Amino acid sequence: MKKFIFVTGGVVSSLGKGLTAAALGTLLENRGLKVALQKFDPYLNVDPGTMSPYQHGEVYVLDDGAETDLDLGHYERFTSVKLTRLNNLTSGQVYQTVLNNEREGKYLGKTVQVIPHVTDEIKNRIHVLAEKSGADVIITEIGGTTGDIEGLPFLEAIREFALEVGYNNAIFIHVTYVPFIKAAGELKTKPTQQSVAKLREIGVTPHVLVCRCERPLDKDLRQKISLFCNIPVEAVIEEKDVDHSIYEVPLMLQRERMDDLVCRLLHLTTPTPNMTHWQEIIRKLIAPQHRVRIGVVGKYIGLQDAYKSVYEAIIHGGVANDCGVEIVQVDAEDIEKNGVEKTLKGLGGILVPGGFGERGVEGKILAAQYARENKIPYLGLCLGMQIATIEFARNVLKLAKAHSTEFDPATPHPVIAMLDEQRKVTKKGGTMRLGAQPCQLAVGSKAGQLYGSFVIHERHRHRYEFNNAYREKFEQAGFVFSGLSPDGKLVEVIELPGHPFFLASQFHPEFLSKPHQPHPLFRGFIAAAHHRIHQKPI
Ligand code: GLN
Repeated sequence: MKKFIFVTGGVVSSLGKGLTAAALGTLLENRGLKVALQKFDPYLNVDPGTMSPYQHGEVYVLDDGAETDLDLGHYERFTSVKLTRLNNLTSGQVYQTVLNNEREGKYLGKTVQVIPHVTDEIKNRIHVLAEKSGADVIITEIGGTTGDIEGLPFLEAIREFALEVGYNNAIFIHVTYVPFIKAAGELKTKPTQQSVAKLREIGVTPHVLVCRCERPLDKDLRQKISLFCNIPVEAVIEEKDVDHSIYEVPLMLQRERMDDLVCRLLHLTTPTPNMTHWQEIIRKLIAPQHRVRIGVVGKYIGLQDAYKSVYEAIIHGGVANDCGVEIVQVDAEDIEKNGVEKTLKGLGGILVPGGFGERGVEGKILAAQYARENKIPYLGLCLGMQIATIEFARNVLKLAKAHSTEFDPATPHPVIAMLDEQRKVTKKGGTMRLGAQPCQLAVGSKAGQLYGSFVIHERHRHRYEFNNAYREKFEQAGFVFSGLSPDGKLVEVIELPGHPFFLASQFHPEFLSKPHQPHPLFRGFIAAAHHRIHQKPI
């Protein structure tokens, strides 16, 4: 019998439900169980692909091209699961399916209602994932906060689901907040009590309460929460703010014996997990042998979540080199305002991540030029590759006003341009070049050397490409196209020989990096950055 775990959240958003679900996944996987993780998002967008980073943070792309919630990034980084579009369901998708069914006459004669038609559709997605993934345990996280109107159908659906499969096979974990009130000098349990009461009102009684807090929960407080929330005291789990890294969360939950408890509740007999490899990762994060500073030159710099996977992959690159990384978030517009030297001086490496729209582009081009000319390691991701190309065209090939047609449709030198097939596209949702695509790496290239293989698959999310009309000109000037699509038509990786590390990809390697499997490009980039600083202390 398959087992189901539902993770809900209370009191406030941004409590780290996704991290908690992912960390539980790590522990269960290390107990020898096959896990699947799934996120339900109550908003009405069909997927987050069309949302601004200000609204949503990063859009996380899967192998199959699904544009999904960033929590799916945590799921893949914390476990070995490979996710597909089945692992992220939004209200938009649910209603789209229900309305299509209605138009096709599938409910003929019936009034179409939230219960049962919408809730059935939600339950169906859990069953489909359970079957297709072949997992022993399916962890489903419900986005939003208990009490949100739009989340109600999801909570109703999981209530029904648990009833149908039985409470030996399904449990509810509620992630809640226990704030420290300075004026009173104590942790307060009332928001948690009210959030659990709200859940119970709709028929969901949590089996486990994960209490997010700044300070430790003492015995009395645990007992109080237990009494008022009708939860055994050993099921009141403390999840304190981490000191150093989000990767400490699995170890923290293990100390609280949460995985033991979950297995007991679900009648799963498994050995305790061996987490020594994970402890070694934490050791490298807390007390690394070396240190380096990496500048990320972006446009959504004030937003913690906009470049989530990029920041994580940089940290993994650090782990691979036993190197602590200080990430310096650089607003590309500051480079335009204050000058490149002043803004970027003293960095070990410069990374330009993906992006859309013109704001900050000139600052990013200055950053690429500064990295190229001063032999500072440079890693460009998607837009970061396009930026490196434009910079080379303008400053080495002397193609004045060279640009991407995304930013200057009338440029005399469109070195980055839209593919013909993309020009015909009018709809915005899910129409970019998306998902895993094969790429052939050149023998003798830095990329080939780092990957240790010549055919790779990496995830994409873009509309514009290197314009092949300029390939020869670039090559003659020493620009190397070290990764191409198998038919040779699309440029996937560029690099500059003679530079310690100047490499950029049209794809997004950050989506495939994990703390226990750092991505080769990030490993190489951090190694080069560390090497530079080591040779020339700041
Ligand atoms: N805006 C660029 C394009 O669409 C780059 C996209 C990205 O960086 N993800 O091609």
